[in-house]
Amino acid sequence: MTKHNLRHIKTLSLCALIAFTTSCKDDKKKEDTMAKNENILLQEWTGPFDGVPAFDKMNVKDVKEAVEKGMELGLEDIEKIANNPEPATFENTIAAMERSAKDLDRVFTYYGILSSNMSSPEFRDIQIELAPKLSDYNSKISQNEKLFQRIKAVYDASQTTPLEDDQQRVVDLTYKSFEMNGANLDAEKKKRYAEINKELSSIYTKFSNNVLHDEENYVTYLNADQVGGLSESFTKSAAKIASDKGEDGKYAITNTRSSMDPFLTYSTERELRKQVWNNYYSRGDNGDDYDNNELIAQILKLRKERVGLMGYDNYAEWRLQDRMAKTPENAMDLMMAVWPAAIARVKEEVADMQAVANANGDNITIEPWDYRYYAEKVRQKKYDLDSEEVKQYLQLDKLTQALFYTAARLFNYEFTPVAEGTVPVFHEDVNVWEVTDKDSGKHIGLWYLDPFAREGKRSGAWATTYRSHTTYDGAETVLASNNSNFVKPAPGEPVLVSWDDATTFFHEFGHALHFFSSNVKYPTLNGGVRDYTEFQSQLLERWLSTDEVINQFLVHYKTGEPIPATLVEKIKKASTFNQGFGTTEYLASALIDMKLHLADPENIDIDKFERETLKELKMPKELVMRHRTPQFGHVFSGEGYATAYYGYMWADVLTSDASEAFKEAPDGFYDAQVAKKLVDYLFAPRNSMDPAEAYRLFRGRDAKIEALMKDRGFPVPKK
Ligand SMILES: [Zn+2]
Repeated sequence: MTKHNLRHIKTLSLCALIAFTTSCKDDKKKEDTMAKNENILLQEWTGPFDGVPAFDKMNVKDVKEAVEKGMELGLEDIEKIANNPEPATFENTIAAMERSAKDLDRVFTYYGILSSNMSSPEFRDIQIELAPKLSDYNSKISQNEKLFQRIKAVYDASQTTPLEDDQQRVVDLTYKSFEMNGANLDAEKKKRYAEINKELSSIYTKFSNNVLHDEENYVTYLNADQVGGLSESFTKSAAKIASDKGEDGKYAITNTRSSMDPFLTYSTERELRKQVWNNYYSRGDNGDDYDNNELIAQILKLRKERVGLMGYDNYAEWRLQDRMAKTPENAMDLMMAVWPAAIARVKEEVADMQAVANANGDNITIEPWDYRYYAEKVRQKKYDLDSEEVKQYLQLDKLTQALFYTAARLFNYEFTPVAEGTVPVFHEDVNVWEVTDKDSGKHIGLWYLDPFAREGKRSGAWATTYRSHTTYDGAETVLASNNSNFVKPAPGEPVLVSWDDATTFFHEFGHALHFFSSNVKYPTLNGGVRDYTEFQSQLLERWLSTDEVINQFLVHYKTGEPIPATLVEKIKKASTFNQGFGTTEYLASALIDMKLHLADPENIDIDKFERETLKELKMPKELVMRHRTPQFGHVFSGEGYATAYYGYMWADVLTSDASEAFKEAPDGFYDAQVAKKLVDYLFAPRNSMDPAEAYRLFRGRDAKIEALMKDRGFPVPKK
């Protein structure tokens, strides 16, 4: 499963969806304004490759002014469109909107970096201050009556005289997004609608800052006699982190997934495992100033009230109408079709683990802080698979080459490192490659990689774009980035990663390829459909275990020998291992997300709701939700994944089914014909085509659930 939001500032980058983008080219007045404005964050990007962000000149002190100025310029654009005396046309209304607020878009590239990659207490204060203002800004656009009437006029006219396909889709998406955001409301309801959004945006920021606070402030320090079971590389980096925090001679286990997970997997110190587990799963739930439970109750109430203004029963119904799943029932049906098999598998896994513990004379009953530890023991026994041994063959540099190889075979791309110093970066660890077409040499874009964990960088891995492909005002090239939290090794040591992290590395690269391959004309058509957008990247994970990648890139970091066939066989066999744990911890989160938003939020007690719902679902007591409610940033630090966490599994059904198409092809995962269909229908069109239709063009039919059940080693349901 994935560990990231696509863009942290999704509620804000939704701007680009509701669409306020601007070009300075045709606006003399704006050029003058810009010339006078010294703020670097607002300025047009200059330098090589059609201009690149000036990350080397970025300063937190410029953010507030830049965002405020960007909003001002964006609103000027919008007012101009709304007050145009000419009758509304696609060009003077919809296309003009696609062009608006480009300045703010540029600022948000920096804002995204300062928020996700280089955060600081100073920046977080600015974020808190700006959140309500940005919400105001969005409301001023989504509730601009004159603007909406013009959009409606274009939309209505297109119902009798359809536009070109891509223009029609932009009109449909724009109209729908305004309608879903309250544009059809009367004045009084609109006012309340805006108030709610403003309030929500502040709560979202508080929510995520509370989680970040608890991640930074609960560090477990170990003494030298408490590192039993931990790998050399892990202890080395834990020692460095401790020493950076002024605790020389100790070992720091930080309160993030990338520290918690390996610690719980390998540490022989049960009491410490319990402490680390407790710290991690109590984030946002410590009953102090940083507790999120009350904030969640407020969020649910406000969301329900807001969609109620538009006549919807609940948030989920409103949210899913433009998703591939269409209704909460469809999403719940899929989850509940898989859930019984998942919890049944957990029972088997716990029995296996208990047997190992007993044989070992450990005299314990499996608790949640034991799951990873004993699962690893079972893995070694049952599959004779040692994760540390596998790691010796997974070097970050080689994996990066493997990504490029895959992109070359499927997309015909070539990646070439740019000369150091030609493209500004925001941290010395960031590297940049130029992406070109292998045959024509055509420039496609730049790929930025920020691989290592550091303080102020959020946990997990994610992909984002600084500039997306469009052609409506001349072809724009793509600036895409991948961000991970690999532990930076001691100088001179290779970066060895786990199989899971290697898989995630491929996953995020899938998002980047999705950005690079875009062939859309208008910015709005680059937008994602939440339960579909993860599919392309999940599918790309499958190339990690192809023979071509294994034989060329999965080589031992000391001897250079390829990973032995027997070990690969074990990894493949082990791929269904622990699927009870993985599927259950994920589905529990996805189900709680959906059920919280279908419930009546009046007087809701979040803690009790979580406990009782899990009980009803017969959640096994030996594990917890992957993201417990008080730390469920996907759902409560914004709206990006609210009632949408199911989307990973929805996308997984597509992934397994699409992967079968490659398995069935003459040349397997590198079959040229299937690869061409993959690029043409599943990647390049992005949201310029209905996802269900695009999938049918690729597969010749709708996706089926059978391949997913098979991939997870669950019984395949009988027809
Ligand atoms: Zn993803």
